[in-house]
Amino acid sequence: MRVLAPNPGPFTLQGTNTWIVGARPSLVIDPGPDDPEHIREVHRESEPVGAILLTHHHPDHAPGAALLADRSGAPVLAYRPMANERKLAGGAIVPGGDAILRAVHTPGHTRDHLVFFERESGALFTGDAVLGQGTSMIDPPEGDMAAYMRSLSIMLSLAPRVIFPGHGSAVWSAVEKLREYVDHRKDRERQVLAGLEDGPRTAEELVPGIYSEYPLELYPAAARSVLAHLLKLAREGRVTRIGRPVDERFALASGASCERCGRPVMPGSRLCDRCGVAALQEAPPATGRTREAGGGAHIRPSSETTDGRDST
Ligand SMILES: [Zn+2]
Ligand SMILES: [Zn+2]
Repeated sequence: MRVLAPNPGPFTLQGTNTWIVGARPSLVIDPGPDDPEHIREVHRESEPVGAILLTHHHPDHAPGAALLADRSGAPVLAYRPMANERKLAGGAIVPGGDAILRAVHTPGHTRDHLVFFERESGALFTGDAVLGQGTSMIDPPEGDMAAYMRSLSIMLSLAPRVIFPGHGSAVWSAVEKLREYVDHRKDRERQVLAGLEDGPRTAEELVPGIYSEYPLELYPAAARSVLAHLLKLAREGRVTRIGRPVDERFALASGASCERCGRPVMPGSRLCDRCGVAALQEAPPATGRTREAGGGAHIRPSSETTDGRDST
């Protein structure tokens, strides 16, 4: 059963779906925002509650959990528990009165994202990983496109019959929807790579070419999504990051690798950014050859720390 929270908006569609699964006791997924009227209604429909499950901790899904826990006495379970919540690991089984949910860790939208699968009925409760309409927001650094695409494959492997999303209507062609999501991201990735063929670009510079049919007010959100693709491609060595973090651009990787460490390098360079800096420091000053050895303008000493943060 669905109870719709009164928080409609551009990212929440009609509002957040609070799902009540089974009965005596029921399992409640995503109580939604901290709205007493909504929580009262959820409690009325779900009593007695066996457990409150969170797909993730965004403000449109989780804050109501504490209110519902107070009213029902049920524990709140989450992948990364906050105060007064309990840990729910990927693969964990949560039994209700007449339904059993399995938690599946599906990072991508957030790192702590879970979906819940009811094997008997084939129902998959997807939170913000799959929506009833449109696509899921992948916003770095908490959003991770590579992890998200792996999570889509994991959800496909469950062969669900129906998707009950965090926003929007139920999707009865569940596998088709997941395939559509995978194809959509692959198409976007191809468009991002094609957009770099004319030279280095920022995420913002790539947006008009890729989203030409979308209204301008969507461009900032689209740029976050393009950035998520670029960071994934950079980690795979298919694009290279150039410049300081404030004016960073992305370029197609040359296919060549650094002579010292084997990381991808910019076209025409023998060394990657990091080894280029090391070479500069080792070289005797004022020989006039150090810039060439280091790959010239592509030196960006901070690249390591930035990469490290994105991949944790
Ligand atoms: Zn979210
Ligand atoms: Zn949401």
